[in-house]
Amino acid sequence: MRIFYDTEFLDDGRTIDLISIGMVDEDGRELYAVSSEFDQSAVRRHGWLMANVWPSLPILRNPHGTRGIDRLDVTDPVVHPRAQIARMVADFIRSVPDPQLWAFYSAYDHVALAQLFGPMSNLPAGIPMQTDDLVTEAKRLGLTPADLPQQEAGHHNAIADARHNRDMARHLDRIARGY
Ligand SMILES: [Mg+2]
Repeated sequence: MRIFYDTEFLDDGRTIDLISIGMVDEDGRELYAVSSEFDQSAVRRHGWLMANVWPSLPILRNPHGTRGIDRLDVTDPVVHPRAQIARMVADFIRSVPDPQLWAFYSAYDHVALAQLFGPMSNLPAGIPMQTDDLVTEAKRLGLTPADLPQQEAGHHNAIADARHNRDMARHLDRIARGY
């Protein structure tokens, strides 16, 4: 069974720091988690992440007006330490038969997911060693990403993006079947 997923992350050119992950399988089961451990001050200095990713995270608005700063609400039920997210992700993947991982421009997503378990050699049994790319499947069918359905809402919220990945895959399935 295919599992469609998306991650949001802080990429500084050396490391990929997971912010959030969303996963949905073909039966509609979902997982959404936000890391309690990403570097919040680095994200606050990152204009694109502040504009596009931060607003959909569970945020505690600062109570001190302009003197304070907004922070991740670590008491929110979707926020977990990385080790717990690793267990949740492994359980989710292992609970489907013959799991395949799919994402959109998937290379960085795969690294963000795999590094939950440490170095590549630590990837647990039952977790696929690569993530298939919806962009590659589109190319195989003579399409470009612009030919795929466009996402209406929730851009850069990992679970909304994961659901959209599933929708794009279903569109590609129909084209591959010829209708
Ligand atoms: Mg995304």
